[in-house]
Amino acid sequence: MERTLSIIKPDGVGRGLIGDVVKRLEASGLTILAMKMIHMTKTQAQGFYAVHRERPFFDSLTDFMSSGPAVVMVLEGENAIARYRELMGATNYKEAAEGTIRRDFATDIEKNVVHGSDAPETAAFEISYFFNAFEINPR
Ligand code: ATP
Ligand code: MG
Repeated sequence: MERTLSIIKPDGVGRGLIGDVVKRLEASGLTILAMKMIHMTKTQAQGFYAVHRERPFFDSLTDFMSSGPAVVMVLEGENAIARYRELMGATNYKEAAEGTIRRDFATDIEKNVVHGSDAPETAAFEISYFFNAFEINPR
């Protein structure tokens, strides 16, 4: 069993896509162990995406991620990290496979609706960034 962090980014929340995303997660068989809505500060967004601090898009990305509420979730399942990234599709929605969340809903390489952890170590860091042990409901 594996856990991963999912975020419905501010564009997804603002455009009314929470239900669409959650429907796909549940239909895929991944289990939602925790869920809450948060509005990140710029500093919190910078800490979350610290691995990208040298990238040219870092300032714009952290402005976007702190621009409105987002929904953060802990997902669990066999190979949850890879399975959820498959549901999300490629970073650039134009390159994302048919039927993926980003292909169907994203409008921009930055405003791409969802985030997902990319490895077990990043998943552990990202889950603990938003949730304490009491907020994660074991199944
Ligand atoms: P995420 O980490 O959000 O799940 P990802 O792992 O598919 O996305 P990363 O390379 O980690 O992609 O980039 C993090 C986020 O930064 C992207 O989801 C996107 O919002 C933004 N981003 C990535 N590349 C670019 C770019 N070239 N221009 C603008 N924004 C970008
Ligand atoms: Mg990433």
